[in-house]
Amino acid sequence: MKIRAAVLYEPKQAFQIETVDLEPPRAGEILVKMAAAGVCHSDYHLVTGDTKHAMPVVAGHEGAGVVEAVGEGVTKIKPGDPVALNWAPNCGECFYCLRDRPNLCTTYVGPLWAGTMMDGTTRLSIGGQPVYHFSAVACFADYVVVPQECCVGLRDDLPLDVAALIGCAVTTGVGAALNTVRVEPGSSIVVFGAGGVGLSIIMGAQLAGAGKIIAVDTNETKGDLAQSFGATDVLINSPDVVQDIRNLTEGRGADYVFEAIGIPAVQEQSLEAVRPAGTVVLVGVSPMGSGTNLPGAIITRQEKTVTGSYYGTANTARDFPLYAELFLKGKLDLERLISRTYKLEQINKAYADMLAGEIARGVIYF
Ligand SMILES: [Zn+2]
Ligand SMILES: [Zn+2]
Repeated sequence: MKIRAAVLYEPKQAFQIETVDLEPPRAGEILVKMAAAGVCHSDYHLVTGDTKHAMPVVAGHEGAGVVEAVGEGVTKIKPGDPVALNWAPNCGECFYCLRDRPNLCTTYVGPLWAGTMMDGTTRLSIGGQPVYHFSAVACFADYVVVPQECCVGLRDDLPLDVAALIGCAVTTGVGAALNTVRVEPGSSIVVFGAGGVGLSIIMGAQLAGAGKIIAVDTNETKGDLAQSFGATDVLINSPDVVQDIRNLTEGRGADYVFEAIGIPAVQEQSLEAVRPAGTVVLVGVSPMGSGTNLPGAIITRQEKTVTGSYYGTANTARDFPLYAELFLKGKLDLERLISRTYKLEQINKAYADMLAGEIARGVIYF
């Protein structure tokens, strides 16, 4: 079938809206008619070249839609089911899956990074030439074919734009607070970067009963947003952010510092801003090949912990429905994360707006 998709031919270029050929789903695959896709920074890393990938590629990894058709052997999902897409499919059987870390599943890493389906081939092409799938999802397109492991079925009273955000930002952020470190009631937290992920961390920390929630950003609008999501203090363009954080935490530093941007210098500040025996959680992905300079002597003497958080340490089959339920019960204000909406044709504008730093999440509707 012919679909419309945003194709990236080379780094440092704009996305091009193209008519692309999409093959039907093969065994174990699912055709999804997309409803909504979130504009996440990780796709933009393909544009900057910070993430290397086979090209041309259809990006987009935060999405939801309705199942249109299923390939042979797909039993758990059927046409008509609403699904959110999971960009880190897990097998349930490997070393990490068996140790409750399905977000680190190793089984599909090869094809995921090769930009193909699990059998090593693409379903996307233009003029007979392969077009690659970003993270097996490639949802900046009106239809996608994905491995069945990338589909998580959801209840049908969940709005599909909210489902899309659960597919990345919400799971990454809320999960960082609830799964990766399990923020305790009354604890003090700092979040560097109040975008879709940072605001989700704030929501997760609030759900866990955090006492002080300090949001740090460079943009006033996002500071206001952070406050409306539950930040108790906001630091915008502070000349000495570490000192400000210490002043707000009785001189100690915060119990938890989440870095949701992926900038080495900010990761270094995060270590300074966390108290002795506190934990820095690196959530934002820094450019491949970059280095972060963290003083070992401080980590040793002050027993500070630095941990990564990948996809919110999620078990997507457990967490997507949980976040959906929390949303429907009014405990997670996910709809308000959507600050601007776009058509697929406006994708370059959507990224320009994201880079301008004024929005929580932009969402493309199909
Ligand atoms: Zn994402
Ligand atoms: Zn696995």
